[in-house]
Amino acid sequence: MSRKLKCQICGIKDDREKIKIKQGYCHRDKCYDQYLKQEEFKQKEKEQKYELYETIKRLHNIAIIPHQFFPYIEALRNGDIAFGKIKKQYKQGFTYNVIDKTYKHCNSNIDWAKDNKDFRGSTMNMLKYTFTIVQDKINYINSKIEKQQMQKAHVDKIGDAMKPDDHDVEYRKTKNKHDISKFLD
Ligand SMILES: [Zn+2]
Repeated sequence: MSRKLKCQICGIKDDREKIKIKQGYCHRDKCYDQYLKQEEFKQKEKEQKYELYETIKRLHNIAIIPHQFFPYIEALRNGDIAFGKIKKQYKQGFTYNVIDKTYKHCNSNIDWAKDNKDFRGSTMNMLKYTFTIVQDKINYINSKIEKQQMQKAHVDKIGDAMKPDDHDVEYRKTKNKHDISKFLD
């Protein structure tokens, strides 16, 4: 009898041959879609986080971000410190993309702080200071982006409804299908 292994998605133990996949363990039938979605999410998070860190480095003229600063960003991402409340959560806060856009929006405020504030040569002091600027503006940027996305979704919807060509194609497709089905009957 083969050793039972735990599925990464549902947590249920099963025979190796049922749950072994290339990168780990997951039920090949019922849990695989969920696994792919999770991997896609992780990949997207990684890319957006990379972009954000590049932005932070560029705006502050620094080559590396001190690792002590990472928890600040993660707290914002997880939603631990959103709306003035502190609670432990996972990926419930602002997306890395929104944080990135907020940093970019605060570009001139960050420049001003760099020129006028005394951080005593500490990158961490500087990052903590500009972080409060970003925190201050993030709700505003977030709702602005949400509004834009809603408007875009609305425009797309109208656009789809107004495409006569697609309707024609769809109609022809349906007609063909019916024609073929005649032969199948
Ligand atoms: Zn499973």
